[in-house]
Amino acid sequence: MNQRVLAERARRAIPGGVNSGQRNVPGLSDLVIAHAEGARFRDADGKEYLDFHAAFGPPLLGHNDPDVNAAVAEAGNGADLCGVGVTEGEVELAETLAELVPSVERVLLTSTGSEATFHALRVARAATGRRLVVKFQGCYHGWHDSVSLNVISSAEKVGGRDPISTGILPEVLEATLVLPFNSSQAVRQAFADHGADIAAVIVEPVPHNVGCLLPEQEFLRTLREECTKAGSVLVFDEVITGFRHHLGGWQAISGVTPDLTTMGKAIANGYPVGALGGRADLMDLFSSRPGGPAFFAGTYNGHPAVVAAALATLRKLRAEPVHAHVFALGERIRSGLTEVFDSLGIPALVTGYGSVFVGYFMTGPARTYDDLLRNDANMFIGYRRRLLDHGIFELPLNLKRSHVSYAHTDADVDRLLEAAAVAARQAGG
Ligand code: PLP
Repeated sequence: MNQRVLAERARRAIPGGVNSGQRNVPGLSDLVIAHAEGARFRDADGKEYLDFHAAFGPPLLGHNDPDVNAAVAEAGNGADLCGVGVTEGEVELAETLAELVPSVERVLLTSTGSEATFHALRVARAATGRRLVVKFQGCYHGWHDSVSLNVISSAEKVGGRDPISTGILPEVLEATLVLPFNSSQAVRQAFADHGADIAAVIVEPVPHNVGCLLPEQEFLRTLREECTKAGSVLVFDEVITGFRHHLGGWQAISGVTPDLTTMGKAIANGYPVGALGGRADLMDLFSSRPGGPAFFAGTYNGHPAVVAAALATLRKLRAEPVHAHVFALGERIRSGLTEVFDSLGIPALVTGYGSVFVGYFMTGPARTYDDLLRNDANMFIGYRRRLLDHGIFELPLNLKRSHVSYAHTDADVDRLLEAAAVAARQAGG
């Protein structure tokens, strides 16, 4: 069926026609996805896109990876969801995560990253008996109330509390302190003022929800020191950085070990699994352990199909040169785009890490969210809309990052760089 007709049906049956607020993208309301494979997807009218959006990050191996899909199909021959006991796959996955990720002694599986961050904060409050949570401007940790504020804020709203939704109790918002990323001084001050009441500090070690702000080592160390001194729980939200940047997450790269780690996305190449791992004494507070006071549940937690997807993904990430491949392509893209924009005289800062890239239309540096307020949002979105005309998909929303996968090739990078020159000239003129 014609995609416009399908999209109209979608808008009648589904609010806005899409199943996530993050998919409500101006200009793309008629997009209906029909097929995806490797580095590409196709819409319902047969137009193919070279995909650098990659579903906000999960398919690190590429769409519909045959090894992951085979493992899921094979899982169909075993148990499906029984809702009691545990399966061998869950044990193997928990042991693998504990082996790979420095902070992880015990693991609980969820279906999404939001559930993992929700439970991280719940158990931090349970363990400390304290109220406050610290988050950072520009970080996104999912849709639940304690963290639903101050992601992409306007200049006027930075510095205050800026909820991303209505319907949240003011007392919940007031229990979250929002600080500038990379400001050790702001962290020290918050602990000096409120330390005895801070249950948890939650941070994306690299805030990729606004593109890429690279963390200063001193900042991460300050988080660790202040949390340890005050008895607060440090949570690294590695839903994006985990497995994509390193099998041990950013904590393995930085050497700074949090108390709890949340994981998701690349762990299962697109199948719905999240995980919360961390220190045994904290994790043992959950009700999965007899007498554990912090309630934890989920009908679909540890579903055999998604566990099989996660195990197959992690096996492939360990066995094949996935990281070497995506890091090399990412580096080519960052330097190639820098050259393209420079040669056109367009002020741009192309940054990222490993397989993640983003080109801001501003001059550097990009240390804190405030710096990103200098980005020319019209140019950022306009450039990406022009890329669509060339069959290249980078999400046309302000500050969003892009990804390369194991399925992308050097020829795909060539195509992006050629199209970038035309799209930037058109958007800039
Ligand atoms: N944490 C981070 C860093 C994320 O980027 C996201 C999603 O984009 C989440 C948590 C929430 O994960 P999910 O969308 O699976 O609930």
